[in-house]
Amino acid sequence: MLTTCTNVLITSSLLMTGTVEEGPAWYRGNTHTHTLWSDGDAPPEHAVKWYVDNEYDFLVLSDHNLMQQGETWFEIAKGGRLTPEKVEGLGRDFGEDWAETREEDGKTEMRLRTLDELKERFESAGDFILIPGEEVTDRYRLAEVHINGLNLAGPIKPQHGDSVQETIQNNLDAIIKHGKENDRQVLAHLNHPNFRKSLGASNLAEMKGERFFEVYNGHRSVENERIGDRPSLEEVWDRALTMRLRDGAGDGGLLYGLATDDAHDHYVVDAVSVPGRGWIMVRADSLDADSIITAMKKGDFYASSGVELEDITHDGGTLTIHIKEDPGVQYVTEFLGTSLGEGDVGTPGQVLAITNANPASYTFDGDELYVRARVRSTRLHPRPYAEGDLEMAWIQPVQPVKEDSKGD
Ligand SMILES: [Zn+2]
Ligand SMILES: [Zn+2]
Repeated sequence: MLTTCTNVLITSSLLMTGTVEEGPAWYRGNTHTHTLWSDGDAPPEHAVKWYVDNEYDFLVLSDHNLMQQGETWFEIAKGGRLTPEKVEGLGRDFGEDWAETREEDGKTEMRLRTLDELKERFESAGDFILIPGEEVTDRYRLAEVHINGLNLAGPIKPQHGDSVQETIQNNLDAIIKHGKENDRQVLAHLNHPNFRKSLGASNLAEMKGERFFEVYNGHRSVENERIGDRPSLEEVWDRALTMRLRDGAGDGGLLYGLATDDAHDHYVVDAVSVPGRGWIMVRADSLDADSIITAMKKGDFYASSGVELEDITHDGGTLTIHIKEDPGVQYVTEFLGTSLGEGDVGTPGQVLAITNANPASYTFDGDELYVRARVRSTRLHPRPYAEGDLEMAWIQPVQPVKEDSKGD
């Protein structure tokens, strides 16, 4: 899927070259999926094919603590994770000669395709890329600390630490250092904070050097929503933003939210973690890992579980969201933020405005620490995390530009 932005001026490039050069475009991608290389249930080519067939532009296979490299053989067994039926399926999809098998110690095994082989088979300029990645999977006591590293040159080991926060930071630091050492754009995102009640708002607030987390993860055991007095991930987001921007926690600055699949189950549509639940749309100059990550670092992306946007603009005074409308579907946009005006106590994540308009826009009064938005549609998610989920989009937070700093 590739949607050209509506607000891109092409006149100058047209005059210069005589051909129409497209400006930035929206690219759809998922940065969190597992395969047989770790605890997923599918050979990687089966997993990748679904994303190619379903209009994604990029995908990160993020297996636990490894990348899809080297010669690895996987046992084919009835009742196992790689069944004879799955291997037959590969024959139908990729040709009878595709699966490489051998007999070893009385077992039949299939060789897992490497990332290089998958890139060779699936990548197509401007249409689809695989971005190398890993879910660096660590733990401090009972707290699960999982961080995805995107566009890695090779695997990174979990770094451990003497506290939850140190474990998070050590892994973030290792990913950042890896990028510098290999001279490439990398990005780290903190995964499913509510999984096993592992992480809270202060953990997100205190992150340094990197600022991304999953506000929506499609795996049904990660608890994105509020349960009892444990806040939802959107509430965690608002609290952490407030701690960073008001109180100077971590290295300050905005925190950005992703939606991901965390897919492990690639065969049964209504399983615990399937492809197609949550993704990001990134407005990048072109479809390559560097451009995608550069755009994300600027906050030029949004998270989606079905709602598609045509444009997001922020001129310092007004945040405007242009929704791509589908017939028969209604959309409600809520603007949320933390306000520090007279009489405000800085309650995190108040609803500042609600509108049915399209475009939906919010004009800052100047007292907001930040404003973010969420668009809810009236259409049911076809592959829901929970029954009854509606398709949504989450727009990244922005800060008002103060009058006295305009034009600097
Ligand atoms: Zn995880
Ligand atoms: Zn995962």
